[in-house]
Amino acid sequence: MHIVFAASECVPFAKTGGLADVVGALPPELAKLGHKVSVYLPFYAGVRRRIAGEPRCAVRSITIPFDYYNRFAAIVDGGLRDGVQYYFVDCPELFDRDELYGLKGGEFPNNWERFGLFARAVLEAAKQLGVPEVFHVHDWQAALIPVYLRTTYSADPALNRAGTVLTIHNAGYQGWFPPQTTQRLLFPWDVFTMDKLEQFDTFNFLKGGLVYSDILTTVSRRYALEIQTPEFGEKLDSVLRARAADLRGILNGVDYAHWDPATDPSLAAHYSPENLTGKTACRADLLRVFGLENLPDTTPVVGMVSRFAAQKGFDLVEQIAPILAERDVAVVALGSGEPRYEKFFRDWAYWHKGKVAVQIRYDEVLAHKVEAGSDIFLMPSRYEPCGLNQIYSLKYGTVPVVRATGGLDDTIEEWNPAQTSGTGFKFEGYSADALMAAVDRALAAFPDKQGWRQLMRNGMARHYGWEKPAKEYEAVYAEAAARRA
Ligand code: ADP
Repeated sequence: MHIVFAASECVPFAKTGGLADVVGALPPELAKLGHKVSVYLPFYAGVRRRIAGEPRCAVRSITIPFDYYNRFAAIVDGGLRDGVQYYFVDCPELFDRDELYGLKGGEFPNNWERFGLFARAVLEAAKQLGVPEVFHVHDWQAALIPVYLRTTYSADPALNRAGTVLTIHNAGYQGWFPPQTTQRLLFPWDVFTMDKLEQFDTFNFLKGGLVYSDILTTVSRRYALEIQTPEFGEKLDSVLRARAADLRGILNGVDYAHWDPATDPSLAAHYSPENLTGKTACRADLLRVFGLENLPDTTPVVGMVSRFAAQKGFDLVEQIAPILAERDVAVVALGSGEPRYEKFFRDWAYWHKGKVAVQIRYDEVLAHKVEAGSDIFLMPSRYEPCGLNQIYSLKYGTVPVVRATGGLDDTIEEWNPAQTSGTGFKFEGYSADALMAAVDRALAAFPDKQGWRQLMRNGMARHYGWEKPAKEYEAVYAEAAARRA
């Protein structure tokens, strides 16, 4: 089968979060299963820098009309990697910039135009480079592909037998724009209704994708259920309930080629379930990088790596910060994002030097060091579609403390000391008390060296590779293609 991926992020070209990891890892896994896979991405400045030499053109110019002007996009041939063909949509005035979605002050106001053009460029390019059986589109940035396919492109004989699958990586980001976007992107006004793209008088990219795609997926079983409720549905729950029969939860895999403490080039030492000694050197290395060298061995290190966003539960961390400061525990945090959380972490570290340390930036090497060098990994998310860091933590023998939501609930099992089963610590309700109780259970378990080692090994033995999810996606593609056959 030929599958075209369209997304705004993909490792190693462009990344702000877990979406990039998925779009980087799933296509090669599908290629291994014998499928033909092409991935389309915008040609951001960062992608341009990654291409050796002059970009090679696959399509010289595609005309994309808007309401009173045209734009022209070229398709750059990104070549074949691990059996996957990459194409980049090149429209310098829209994509040749370092940021993917916006500057610190906010999103680019013309994101409707950037990702509206992206959707049509992918469809037009596919007609020249190969129409797939299925377009697999990701998040709001690619969600207009199924909308165009079933509206203004519905009579196109080259495209009308292609199935569509939309994966929701995070329902909190939907792409809301003014009503006139309908006209600017050359849609007929009859798509701007409550049962299609309109939502509270905005033009909603994601909602369009939810309405027009053949199959919807999201990245864990629990999140697939949660988003059908008002608490997690981000005001799209009724649309998702209406499509419940076509909505699947497929847990993300992780790429163990990049996330394995036995081979990870970012670490000071390597280790495995059979020989854990290297983890001590990783902890010492981490503490050195964060300036906490004098920490006694008996004090557990709690690590965090995250976008600093409200979704991640930092208001709960803020509430327990004074209590944590009194416990025998050290905290290291790596992240960046909303200024209020950056300030919270800076202040917390300032007042508790030698015990709490933060690095405010995006740093992949350091992310690996935090996973390896910490004893406990904290993810108290308000919601978490899948979450990758807790899965990395399992592999790195770093015990996760998580809120029982989305993929965190699907992947972490509460430690049971009597039966020595389980992989971490979980709490249900979104409250500081519940979080503190889970952290305290972890701190109470830590001094029992033998029990803790078993807990680490339980997690390290879990396998969340891409083999199983790739097969689940394969079944979904077959279903989507069959609907159009
Ligand atoms: P989300 O996609 O919501 O940000 P995930 O847990 O699914 O959350 O994925 C986050 C990914 O981004 C992980 O691979 C994580 O290591 C990485 N990451 C997040 N923040 C940083 C940072 N400050 N530095 C390096 N990597 C980061």
